[in-house]
Amino acid sequence: MSRARPVIAIDGPAGVGKSTTARVLAQRLDYILVDTGALYRGVALAARDRGISWDDEGATVQLSGELQLRFESEADGTPRLWIDGVDRADEIRTPEISAAASQVSAYPGVRRALLGIQRSLGRDGGVVLEGRDIGTIVFPDAEVKLFLTASAEERARRRAQDLQDRGMTADQDQILAQIRARDKADSTRPIAPLRPAEDAVILDSTSLDLEAVVQHALELVRACN
Ligand code: C5P
Repeated sequence: MSRARPVIAIDGPAGVGKSTTARVLAQRLDYILVDTGALYRGVALAARDRGISWDDEGATVQLSGELQLRFESEADGTPRLWIDGVDRADEIRTPEISAAASQVSAYPGVRRALLGIQRSLGRDGGVVLEGRDIGTIVFPDAEVKLFLTASAEERARRRAQDLQDRGMTADQDQILAQIRARDKADSTRPIAPLRPAEDAVILDSTSLDLEAVVQHALELVRACN
């Protein structure tokens, strides 16, 4: 069954600008935005709430199947994650939960539990999904597949700038080390490793600004219509 409006898959490593690109794209097209990383972060946070160790694969997998995860949109379309009826969108953004999300996302049972939610959110098209395996696993039939890359140094610089803009202190070397650790974990795990789909368009954004990346993506959307 073909969709009236496309599914847009945006994949790539941590700090590459997927979220911002996906948000602007969804705003311009008036599409729904789905932040799939938030779901993995939600599992990590809920495990901590219940005293489940992130090393305990069995309990974490079981929990991932029991949680009620859903998104509510902010006025600008930014998705906020609700877990079991409570808005947890801010709590999932800490460095601790970032690392834990990367750990629990390597459990096949967790990935299976979250697959259905992601597919049901995107099923009807008119949606931008951002993550690591959208073009390869979640929507291998997505009409638009964009894989963003940028050097680890540039991604660390952007993240540090972003934190400073929000009035927080940022140690760029520490951020770079965290980005490298997450890149390694995400791309070497045996299940759903971070890699571009064969039919994805790979865009290196190291020296591109946001608008240039968005324009590339919009061209891909126009081309599939
Ligand atoms: O994108 P974000 O940084 O919020 O993702 C948090 C973690 O969740 C990533 O480091 C990655 O390990 C995992 N993830 C994933 N598959 C996705 C989205 C995120 O494995 N589709």
